Amino acid sequence: MVYNDALAARRTAHASGLPYIKAAELSAAMTRAKKTPERCWLGEVSAVVLQQSLRDLETAYRAFFDGLAGKRPRVGAPRFKSRKDRRQSIRFTANARWAITKGGKLALPKIGELKVRWSRRLPSTPSTVTVIRDAAGRYFASFVVETRDDRLPRAGAQASARLGPDVEIDLGLEHFAVTSDGRKITSPRFLRRAAKKLRRAQQSLSRKQKGSANRDKARMKVARAHAKVADARREFHHQLSSELVRENQAVYAETLCVKGLARTRLAKSVHDAGWSAFLGMLEYKAQRYGRTFTQVGRAYPSSQICSGCGYRDGPKPLHVRAWTCERCGTAHDRDVNAARNILDEGRRIIT
Ligand SMILES: [Zn+2]
Repeated sequence: MVYNDALAARRTAHASGLPYIKAAELSAAMTRAKKTPERCWLGEVSAVVLQQSLRDLETAYRAFFDGLAGKRPRVGAPRFKSRKDRRQSIRFTANARWAITKGGKLALPKIGELKVRWSRRLPSTPSTVTVIRDAAGRYFASFVVETRDDRLPRAGAQASARLGPDVEIDLGLEHFAVTSDGRKITSPRFLRRAAKKLRRAQQSLSRKQKGSANRDKARMKVARAHAKVADARREFHHQLSSELVRENQAVYAETLCVKGLARTRLAKSVHDAGWSAFLGMLEYKAQRYGRTFTQVGRAYPSSQICSGCGYRDGPKPLHVRAWTCERCGTAHDRDVNAARNILDEGRRIIT
């Protein structure tokens, strides 16, 4: 709340025509505030962390002023940080005297040593650590480290038969991805299981009475399940994107034209599939490892497929408003058939 207090002080000064409060004055005000009963808890928090909040506010103001002066793209004036935002974070820079102990614990000033479940080895000594508490009440530590771009040897020149010069992947709804070498990739079981749990938690929440204690509990459960799904999805995306980038010199990704779908119920499915996050990973990993990545959009052939039997009947000119499936004989209205297809695909993906 240091951030909000400082912001409030500046806003009040501005509104009453007083000069801009300098950072040093804010810092002094904070030190005084520690002696008041409402803010005495500040004394329990590391001073460096409090200073960091003030510095974050300075950065926000600088971006705002530079924008006004035309030195960089305009951004809005700093805003209050919401108490409703259930995600909280605290950042320790190099001079905050935090450390990783020999036993692999995280030692934080005024907090003490914390046990850490390390998700990966740090490639070099980190300069900053951010401890995040997410909406589900879980704590994470994220470190800032220096890395070099590690260019991999050219794929295709390597001995393994699985390595190829390039691959095309088709991101779809039926399968998460289909590669040009014939692999059909569905979301892994751990992700499907997490998604199922989430749906159950959501259903249970919808049955709880508003304002009841049980509803609060159910809401927490949903938040936790959400977080698990997001984690599982991220892990799957990381695994797959690393594999594709490692094994191919060039990766081309084709995706459904998502824009047209944004207004439909399918949008949620596309969102669930997390294509954009996955494509982002492919892009940065390709760059890091000296590979090529290209993204191509494609229109979903919803009007070419029989919604009855799945037979793909080939492209149809727009004036064809109705057609009969060659294989199963179902008579189709063009638009109804297309809509049915899109919906079916959308439903299939979440499983
Ligand atoms: Zn058919």
